[in-house]
Amino acid sequence: MIGLGRGLDEPVCSRAGCSEPAEWSIVWRNPRIHTDGRTKTWLACTEHVGYLRDFLATRDFPLEVLAGVSDRAKGDLA
Ligand SMILES: [Zn+2]
Repeated sequence: MIGLGRGLDEPVCSRAGCSEPAEWSIVWRNPRIHTDGRTKTWLACTEHVGYLRDFLATRDFPLEVLAGVSDRAKGDLA
């Protein structure tokens, strides 16, 4: 994902072209490829958290929206 190479001290939104500070973590899974229960985590600013959540929801991916950049999210950026 674009924007994740800046280091974990300054997490930013995962939306392409957005460099706002991340305020939310979206933990999601694609059941077709994540067959071992692994999850992916996207970070989002407040403006884009709804966009990213809907993007995944329309694909019927299980997802969880967490306020802030959780420790769980920090350890699972991909
Ligand atoms: Zn954003």
